[in-house]
Amino acid sequence: MSLKLYNTFSRKKEVFKPLKKGFVGLYTCGPTVYNYVHIGNLRTYIFEDVLRRTLEAHGYTVQHIMNVTDVDDKTIAASKHAKKDLSVFTKEYEKAFGDDSAKLNILAPTRPFVRATEHIPAMIMLIQKLLRKNYAYEKGGSVYFDISKFAPYGKLAHLDKKGLKAGARIDVDEYAKDAAQDFVLWKAAKAGEPSWPAPFGSGRPGWHIECSAMATAYLKQPFDIHAGGVDLIFPHHENEIAQSEAAYNKPFARYWLHGEHLLVDGEKMSKSLGNTYTLRDIEKKEFTPLSLRYLVLMAHYRTKLNFTWQSLKSAQQAYRELVEFTKELIAEKSAAPIKTAHSYASYEKKFFAALDDDLNTPKALAVLWQFIRAYHKAKTTYPNAAYALLLKCDAVLGLEFAEVTLLKIPLAIQQLAEKREQFRTEKKWQEADALRAKIEKMGWQILDTDAGSTLKPRM
Ligand SMILES: [Zn+2]
Repeated sequence: MSLKLYNTFSRKKEVFKPLKKGFVGLYTCGPTVYNYVHIGNLRTYIFEDVLRRTLEAHGYTVQHIMNVTDVDDKTIAASKHAKKDLSVFTKEYEKAFGDDSAKLNILAPTRPFVRATEHIPAMIMLIQKLLRKNYAYEKGGSVYFDISKFAPYGKLAHLDKKGLKAGARIDVDEYAKDAAQDFVLWKAAKAGEPSWPAPFGSGRPGWHIECSAMATAYLKQPFDIHAGGVDLIFPHHENEIAQSEAAYNKPFARYWLHGEHLLVDGEKMSKSLGNTYTLRDIEKKEFTPLSLRYLVLMAHYRTKLNFTWQSLKSAQQAYRELVEFTKELIAEKSAAPIKTAHSYASYEKKFFAALDDDLNTPKALAVLWQFIRAYHKAKTTYPNAAYALLLKCDAVLGLEFAEVTLLKIPLAIQQLAEKREQFRTEKKWQEADALRAKIEKMGWQILDTDAGSTLKPRM
């Protein structure tokens, strides 16, 4: 099956063909680390994770790069407010973002997050190139990109050329969504703000130049896929294209994928409405993070998703049923004779066909439920094969439902637990308790039931 993805560039679904056989370069815009990310951002990262897992299911080796913006107007203002050093402050939120991603089972990028502040020389080089080629100009110690010099400007966002305001400069990191203006590549140093020396005067990079410099540094140019939220199409991604293509005179990225917004109770999230929820808010209400992931997968990434607490509750319910079904299968599976080699190939085919059609996760989930209903109705079932199918589906959905009772218990923990069992049968209670304490210190909990002991990670 060939994978089709909707390319914002052409506004069409296109068959995905990598530049290099078996390999995909993927760049996704990461967070600005001045606060906890909200569930709208998390929706985008979940969509990108499904994209990556789908590519991997196709056998591609994916080189996935994600940046973190650790210097800009917001991070500087927020760190000042918190009376913390910028780098200490941003690392706290970078860590929180990593923790949130892990809870949502979002695979970590193939390199650790690439930080803007650690790639300033690459950005300076790129700006120098643009100055040399006359695409950029200096003014008052800052450097700007001259959009009138780059003829294809507006090709991603499909901008009306009349809307271009060349010569009108925009100097801040917050951009108006409707006017295309010369944008800042390098901002002149201001007293009390972090700055770096550069041939064109000390200062700090603009937001857009970060992604251009870092994507090319790790993925070369052109690379395969650039993804982000729809709000980044303009001006952020448009400006990335302008910078990179003007500098190197070749395409930047081939496929541009964008995830739609998440609404809360039908409204855009905003501070004034107090509906900018984070994963912490979800956990406070005792929802498991993976039920949010399930909710996100219930909508196609290119449609708006309306979040309500009721919809999260339903998602959590469905997710639990999925977990229960897997548990049933595992129980049957161990009792089932080995030779039940049966495949549920038609469901597998339909499931992956849905994903291949521009990552249609709601359809894929529907196929999964069709399968579960059919399994329950069937007179003869093949739990081994059914379980194998669930594992394959879950590798892409990333819900971990197929692994709930098959926790990856480290060998050392397993051995300690066995040793403890032995002490218990020998009625050596003190020794057994000492091992329990040791196991708990290592982050695992032992649950003793009539049927025996089981291990689970400590919450
Ligand atoms: Zn970016």
